[in-house]
Amino acid sequence: MKIIDFIEKKLAAYAQWRHTPLRIDPMSMKVAVCMNCGDTYVGSFCPRCGQPAKTRRLSLKNATRTLLDTWGLGQHSLLRTIWHLMARPGYMIGDYLDGHRQPYLQPFKAVLVIGTLYAFIYALGSFSGHIARERKDNIAEKTEMNIKLDKASANSNVPKTEAKAFEEQFDKELDKITKYVDAIGKWLDKNKIWQQLILHLLLAIIAVRLCRKAPSRPGLYFSEHFVAQVYICTQMGFVTSVIMLCQLLLGQDIDGSMAGFLSLAILIVDYKQLYGYGYLKAAWKTILSIVLSFLILISVSLLVVIILGIHSAYVAT
Ligand SMILES: [Zn+2]
Repeated sequence: MKIIDFIEKKLAAYAQWRHTPLRIDPMSMKVAVCMNCGDTYVGSFCPRCGQPAKTRRLSLKNATRTLLDTWGLGQHSLLRTIWHLMARPGYMIGDYLDGHRQPYLQPFKAVLVIGTLYAFIYALGSFSGHIARERKDNIAEKTEMNIKLDKASANSNVPKTEAKAFEEQFDKELDKITKYVDAIGKWLDKNKIWQQLILHLLLAIIAVRLCRKAPSRPGLYFSEHFVAQVYICTQMGFVTSVIMLCQLLLGQDIDGSMAGFLSLAILIVDYKQLYGYGYLKAAWKTILSIVLSFLILISVSLLVVIILGIHSAYVAT
């Protein structure tokens, strides 16, 4: 029974910790002279320009730290952000929105860093020939080419009528459109995290209306919902990267996306913690948001295809 008690205590402590914003170190009481403006002051940072009191000459160690800072690694803010995005995602994002900004890597930096990590792992998969989709594409392209060759040899003996010529022209234009759409699709496939970001942008737009009466944070601005979604995208990107890395290590094919039910589960937990809904309400708000965002995405894509179609028909005449 002691073990159960121990686990219960640990779980209670974890639940408590999730709700509490990060505690910051006490202020330094040392007198410092700012190397930037020359002011003398007491504290950890210059009150005039904000330069840290511990700024020193650029030794190799300090220079390395500056370099790592670019990636959010110097002050451990990247690692801290990832850790909190895994352990208490919605609460951490809420803390950030409420003004606890300093401890965490800024959302857009975070998504860039994780996007780079993601692209790196994806490239590893591509390099070792472990991308599931690319293999399928290659097979599809080959059969398509064979069909075209067959068609070409069948057509070469038939004299061309006007109707036939028009049909061929039409086919060509249709081919062009398909290729545009294909190229966009392929680019988005390789850069899934940016594709995700578009989806999260839509989710933010929807949340302005759908979550305007959220119990813990009512009436958030669009920009606040969007920052929240950028962090969620970072979280998803990190989870996907870890999954891809595991798959590669096991010698399996990767396709750069996460299982649908897993991303849905993550999103529901995020919404629950960030907006303060119960699980049931968080679940239906999340599912409704996703359905709506896909509807918007499909309508926009249709619009693009129609515009491209009109454009190429115009060019053809
Ligand atoms: Zn200063």
